[in-house]
Amino acid sequence: MCARPRAHARARERKVLKAIVIGGGIIGCSVAWRLAAEGVATTVLERARVGQEASWAAAGMIAPQAEADGPGPFFDFCMKARDAFEATVDRLVREGGVDPEYDRAGILYVALDADERVQLERRARWQRGVGATVEELSGTEARRLEPMLSPEAIYAIHMPTNRRTDNRKLTQAYAAAARRAGAEFVEGARVEALALRGARASGEVTRADGVVMDDGSTREADVVVNAAGSWAGEIRGLEADRVKLHPVRGQIVCFEVAPATIGPALFSLRGYLVPRRDGRLLAGSTMEEAGYNKSVTLAGLEKIARGAAAIVPALSGAPFREAWAGLRPATRDLLPVLGFSPSVPNVLWAAGHFRSGILLSAITGEVIADLVKGRRPAVELGAFSAARFKEQ
Ligand SMILES: Cc1cc2nc3c(=O)[nH]c(=O)nc-3n(C[C@H](O)[C@H](O)[C@H](O)COP(=O)(O)OP(=O)(O)OC[C@H]3O[C@@H](n4cnc5c(N)ncnc54)[C@H](O)[C@@H]3O)c2cc1C
Repeated sequence: MCARPRAHARARERKVLKAIVIGGGIIGCSVAWRLAAEGVATTVLERARVGQEASWAAAGMIAPQAEADGPGPFFDFCMKARDAFEATVDRLVREGGVDPEYDRAGILYVALDADERVQLERRARWQRGVGATVEELSGTEARRLEPMLSPEAIYAIHMPTNRRTDNRKLTQAYAAAARRAGAEFVEGARVEALALRGARASGEVTRADGVVMDDGSTREADVVVNAAGSWAGEIRGLEADRVKLHPVRGQIVCFEVAPATIGPALFSLRGYLVPRRDGRLLAGSTMEEAGYNKSVTLAGLEKIARGAAAIVPALSGAPFREAWAGLRPATRDLLPVLGFSPSVPNVLWAAGHFRSGILLSAITGEVIADLVKGRRPAVELGAFSAARFKEQ
């Protein structure tokens, strides 16, 4: 799949900034869209096929409040990411022509016993303290909102401003919008290393002239964005940044129910349920250190099925459709790594999105485009700089 789009033709006529994005997951596609939309001649190099890794496997929640463990810079960033999403989605649909099934049904986070209730009450308190919208509900009130909910649910917090989307369609929407804006996508193109200029040993400032492919050929660029997900740490030439990524496996079990059987996405401390418009119901997930192994396991299926049936007992009779697993890209502190490389000045990191890459996709595209174009991003990125690993 290789087009010769408008932006590349323009680049030949006059000096236009050329960018290479490594990785065609949701992050690479979002970055490519925002760069191409600003006239940057952008090429996405994807070693396999666009959007087939973590971005395909995810559940698609735009859920800053359900995922967050506590207040702080990451929670603030996630809340801004939700707003960025809300502000971007109509433009994305217009420019890409793909409907990502963005649903505004909210999230209901339920407690099924007294211990869980204590944890959720704490969550409601700190979130209200930082101005997030949370409604505390009794079990009966929660069942009024979602009648399929277990009679064991004794308490719930409703997060009406959290969202969901079909992440596979969303990734395609970013890719389609990027292509229409002139970005080139090359599939089956594995990047091995940065093509570095200058010798590190002599202390000379090193730049990347582009990237080196696995067949030894070089592709030139003024700017390189590393969006290679769980594999981003394997691109040679950035070792001095000391950014390490590891995969955290998550399994999903998919059932079939009648469309609209369940309204809001349902969360509990035992798992979650996310409905799709066509009647698929995704139950998740696991958090496993299993290397790059994407197997679905009996232990994973058991855990997820038990959690799903605890939230909605009627699911015990729902037809099983399929199950899959994907690899969440995690840094050592589980925060994303965003912005310029401290060691190679024209290379940027856009990786480590861990459990929140769908939520963070729109804002990541936005801030990386800001940095490439020399603007100061509207959000504070200090906590996500690669520099934090050099100091460790
Ligand atoms: C089960 C599960 C549920 C999830 N649920 C949610 C959710 O509800 N909400 C949410 O916000 N997030 C969720 N996530 C997290 C989310 O899926 C990820 O954070 C996000 O998809 C990461 O996107 P990415 O583009 O960085 O990585 P990927 O989608 O993994 O893409 C990286 C791409 O880089 C390519 N690549 C790698 N190395 C090279 C190379 N050397 N050269 C060229 N290309 C290369 C790969 O082939 C791949 O296509 C979930 C994840 C899982 C596994």
